[in-house]
Formats: sequence, C-alpha cells, structure tokens
Amino acid sequence: MMAQRRTTAVLVLTLVIVLIAGCGKGEAPTKKQESIRRRVSGEGEMIVAFVDVGQGDSCIIRLEAGDDDFFAVVDTGKTNAGGEVVEELEDLGCDDIEVLVLTHPDFDHIGGANEVIEKYKVEEVWESGVGKDTKAWETTSAAIDEKKIPRRQVRSGESYQWESASVKVLNPPNGLYSGTGADENNDSVVLLISLGEQDLLLTGDVEVPAQEYMVSQRLSPVEVLKAPHHGGDSAYCQSFIDAVKPQVSVILVGADNTYGHPGETMLRELGAYGQVYRTDTNGNVVVTIDNSGYSVTSER
Ligand SMILES: [Zn+2]
Repeated sequence: MMAQRRTTAVLVLTLVIVLIAGCGKGEAPTKKQESIRRRVSGEGEMIVAFVDVGQGDSCIIRLEAGDDDFFAVVDTGKTNAGGEVVEELEDLGCDDIEVLVLTHPDFDHIGGANEVIEKYKVEEVWESGVGKDTKAWETTSAAIDEKKIPRRQVRSGESYQWESASVKVLNPPNGLYSGTGADENNDSVVLLISLGEQDLLLTGDVEVPAQEYMVSQRLSPVEVLKAPHHGGDSAYCQSFIDAVKPQVSVILVGADNTYGHPGETMLRELGAYGQVYRTDTNGNVVVTIDNSGYSVTSER
C-alpha cells in the first residue's frame, strides 16, 4: 500500500512540475488515459470535474469511499446540458448522488437537474431557498418534490463532512441579499471544500456584495477557485481575489456567449495569481486532489 501511495505521490508531483513548466496544452492526457489514471489512483482522493456545459455551470465531485464512492453535483448546466452531466457522471462510475447542490435558481445552473434526478437517486438537495418565477425553476422544484428528495437550505457558518473532505458553507448569510441588484446571484450557495491542506472554492454566480461579505468573514488562500459568475467583470472584486489567491482558477463559460463572459479584468487578475482554465477553450477540466497535492488535466 505504501508503494502505491508513493507512486501516486510521484505521479502527482510529476504532473505539478509539468503544469509549472507551462503545461503545454498539447501534452494534456486524452480522456482515455485520464480514466486509466483515475482507476489506478490511491484512496482518499477527490476528483473535481468541471463539465463543459457551454454557457452554464456544472461541477461533479467524487470522493473515494470504499465500494461506494461519494458523489456531489454542484449545478447542472442549462436546459439541454443534462446529457453532458450524466455522461460525465457515468464516466466517473456514479451509482447515486449523495448531494445535489443547486447554487441558485437561474436556468444555466439548474437546467439539467431533471435529467440528473431521473437517472440517479439523489439523497439530498442543497439550495439557498431563494426561488424564481420561471418555468425552469418551477419544473425543477416540482421534480425534486415529486421524487420526495429532502431539501436543505444551507447558510454561511455551517459545516459538513463529506467522507474525508470537510465542507464549509460561506454564503448566503441568514439575512440573504435584497436590493443588491442581483439578489439571486448574490444568494448563491458558496462552498469551501477541503481535503487535507487543499482547498476548493465553488462560488456559483456571486457578485461583488456577496464577495465583500465573505472577505469580511475572513477568507484564506485556496488552491482551486471556480471563478464567480462565469468570470464576468460584473463579478470582479479585487479584495476577494487578493484574499483567495487562487493557484488555479476555472471559468465555466460558453464560446461566443452574448454576455461578454469572461471579462478581461477578471482574466488578468486571476491570471496574476495562477493558471486559468476555461471550459470554452479547454473543454472539461478535471482536478485531482489527494493528501500529497493536486493536479489538473483538461480535455484540450
Ligand atoms: Zn450563471
């Protein structure tokens, strides 16, 4: 077992060196190589797959747990993206989903939820509790209730344990946001997921008020950040970026989107701290985290 662990550590170290050396995009492993690497990897590992769902968010987290790995899905892309999320879940060997997090009720985050719920047993849904008067949200909400999936409204300050990872809720606060101009975005569920010394921060579509709130609650540097609001400049908040100092940032964004995402300022400021990946150019981005470090691979 020790030899296996050491092999994994050397592999991760090698990958990190490759990344630091500039990570030639042409050298990224193919999907098949990646799946082989997943199978031989050691225990206690967390895989974080940012799924290329076009203009929208979806992130799958798999935590090793003996025969039945723990799966969390954070957002499910837009309406026609359920298939891509399910395909990635299948690739990762998903049997059921312990937690489905819907960060907020916008269609580009909940659209594929029906398909995911149809295909997999979901133990629990986490949400902000803020709904939206849209067909997309009404359909999703009804589907959750029809399947009798327990719903948990999470709030900043709460802590949970997902197998070997600890999970802290950083947003929204109890009072929620109103009158901030983009209340649902600012009420997004934000999760800090830590495995050993490695931190992953998932931010939904929070904009400046929510980011300033989190800075006021003390934020520490993280290894991996899912950039807020598809990397749009409306969500650019320098004090937040300076607090989290992301070594790796992932922007979930569709090619040629009409929103102008990601913004130039956001790209520049995230790039000042580390490597920036974006799903429109890199495709699926997979971060593998274990006690010895982390590595990043992308489809392109
Ligand atoms: Zn969004």
